[in-house]
Amino acid sequence: MNLILLGAPGAGKGTQAEKIVEKYNIPAISTGNIIRAAIKNSTEMGLKAKSFTESGQLVPDDVVIGIIKERLAENDCQAGFILDGFPRTIPQAQALKDMGVNIDKVINIEVDDETVINRISGRRVCAKCSNSYHLIYKKPKLDGVCDSCGGELVQRKDDESATVKARLDEYHRLTEPLKDFYSKEGILKTVYGQEKVSDTTALVFQAIDE
Ligand code: AMP
Repeated sequence: MNLILLGAPGAGKGTQAEKIVEKYNIPAISTGNIIRAAIKNSTEMGLKAKSFTESGQLVPDDVVIGIIKERLAENDCQAGFILDGFPRTIPQAQALKDMGVNIDKVINIEVDDETVINRISGRRVCAKCSNSYHLIYKKPKLDGVCDSCGGELVQRKDDESATVKARLDEYHRLTEPLKDFYSKEGILKTVYGQEKVSDTTALVFQAIDE
C-alpha cells in the first residue's frame, strides 16, 4: 500500500505516520527528517537546504525530488510506504507520477491555522533521534528528555513563531492545491484533526481501510 499524508505544518502528520508504521508495517518517509539529518551532518544537500528550511521556505523541488527518488529505490519500500511531507508542490506530485509510482490513497489531515500555531509552539523534538513530543498533547515521561534515547528535547528552529507564519503561507500557496490535484484523481481522503491524537488516528485508519 502506497500512501501520502498531506496537511499543514503541525497538523500531526509525523505522529500519524508513526501510528501507520506500527499498524500497517510499512516505512514512513519524512523528507523533513531526511533534510534535518542532512543539515546536522553538513552534507552537500544539507548545506543547500539549510537557509530555506530555517526561514520557513520550501526547499527547491529538484532537491526533494532527488531525495525521494533515492529513498523509494531502497528495498524496504517495495511492499509499500507512507510519504510524510512529500509532495508539497504540484511539480513534486507530477514528478512522483512521472517516476511511475502508483499512490493508493492520500490522507489529508485538516486543521485550522489557529490550532496549528498553538500546537507548533508546544512541539519539541529530540536533538539526538528526532522523535517528536508536545508539551501538552504528547508529553515525554520525564520533562525535556526523550523517552526512546534519553536525548535532550529542543524546539526546532523552524518551529519558532516568526517562522511558523512563513511556513503556513507556503502551505496555503504551494501545498494546498494538491488537495484538488488528488481529489481529481479520486484518491483524496480528508480527515479532520481531533483534539486527542488517538481520535485522529482512528479516523486515519478508517480512511485507509475503507
Ligand atoms: P517538515 O518536518 O515536514 O515540516 O519539513 C521541515 C522543512 O523541510 C520544511 O519547512 C521545508 O523547508 C523542508 N521540506 C520538507 N519536505 C519538503 C518538500 N516536500 N518540499 C520542499 N521542502 C520540504
